[in-house]
Amino acid sequence: MSVFDHHDFRDHEQVVFWNDPETGLKAIMAVHSTTRGPALGGCRMWPYASDAHALADVLRLSRGMTLKSALANLPLGGGKAVIIGDPHGDKTPALMEGMGRAIESLNGRYIAAEDSGTSVIDLKRMNTVTRHVVGIADVPGWDGRMRYGDPSPATAFGCFVGIQSAVRHKLGRDSLEGISVAIQGVGNVGRHLAALLDSAGAELYVCDLQPDQVRLVAELHGAKSVKGDAIFDLEVDVLAPCAMGAVLNDDTIPRLRASIVAGSANNQLAQDHHGDVLAARGILYAPDYAINAGGIIDVASEYEGYDRKLVRRRLEGIGATLDAIFTRARARGVSPHRIADELAVQRLRAAPRLALPLTRAA
Ligand code: NAD
Repeated sequence: MSVFDHHDFRDHEQVVFWNDPETGLKAIMAVHSTTRGPALGGCRMWPYASDAHALADVLRLSRGMTLKSALANLPLGGGKAVIIGDPHGDKTPALMEGMGRAIESLNGRYIAAEDSGTSVIDLKRMNTVTRHVVGIADVPGWDGRMRYGDPSPATAFGCFVGIQSAVRHKLGRDSLEGISVAIQGVGNVGRHLAALLDSAGAELYVCDLQPDQVRLVAELHGAKSVKGDAIFDLEVDVLAPCAMGAVLNDDTIPRLRASIVAGSANNQLAQDHHGDVLAARGILYAPDYAINAGGIIDVASEYEGYDRKLVRRRLEGIGATLDAIFTRARARGVSPHRIADELAVQRLRAAPRLALPLTRAA
């Protein structure tokens, strides 16, 4: 299995294969870039079909984190870790401590956060042997409420300001009063987003695989329930994908009657060119890694010593970043996802090349 010639190897600084026979831990950590600061990214646990699948995932995701943090103007680079194993069968406290030791070995070049297959409890276990984890602090959050490491409310708020920006650009409206929004997936992010939109006077449509989640949001926020993927056919102002990736594809895009797509899900475009197809249809797409940066903004701030006002300013900055993306996209007749990539690379290149400027607050 080649690494340097790998399709997804894009000038990564460091790729570490970690084997710990004592705990059974097999993991790969990828530090894509520390140009803007230490490489922060989720630590995922997944029963990969092969080591090659795990390597491809960690290489691709770590580069994505570099772009996401650069675009959000955070003093961070991009990294990711994957634990090869089934989170429902193979997870033990010892395994998580083993992962903590692996992270510690990088001496702060990589900072881990929660991801698919890992939880705040797992991160707290890693934290017994390394300081280089985030998403674990019980502190008053950016909105004045206690937060317990969970970044979902911050992600939802970032989406909310992102939707405000998209509505300004596409519909020329400063208020969300009466704007119709269809949310696919009302889990951790989607239900917080529904609450924010409801208080701004938006009209809500929601769907979820879990009927209880839909019922709750319907009761609390007067949302109308939609069955399954009929959410893509609704005539609404905004479609907010908040469930899973690859939902913007050859099947769904021709069906869309929304003017805007703006939601939290990662990797919404099935393939890159689907962003161009959306633009050609006149649908304004808020690039996923720009609009869903609230989570990383929130957890990253733990590392610097959580400053609620700074977090809030950075979350609001998501709106300014999207304003810049939409303005450039319109001026140049290019789709917003291409401008987001361009801007992220520009912000990365503009960063002074400092060796790990950020150190964990005591
Ligand atoms: P979650 O698992 O809490 O919620 C997702 C919800 O989507 C679940 O209720 C699930 O039942 C539902 N769902 C799944 N497939 C569906 C389908 N086909 N149709 C309708 N509903 C479906 O996850 P979350 O934390 O709310 O994250 C939502 C999305 O946002 C994910 O793509 C995640 O990667 C992304 N994201 C989350 C954060 C965060 O802070 N939680 C940060 C950045 C990105």
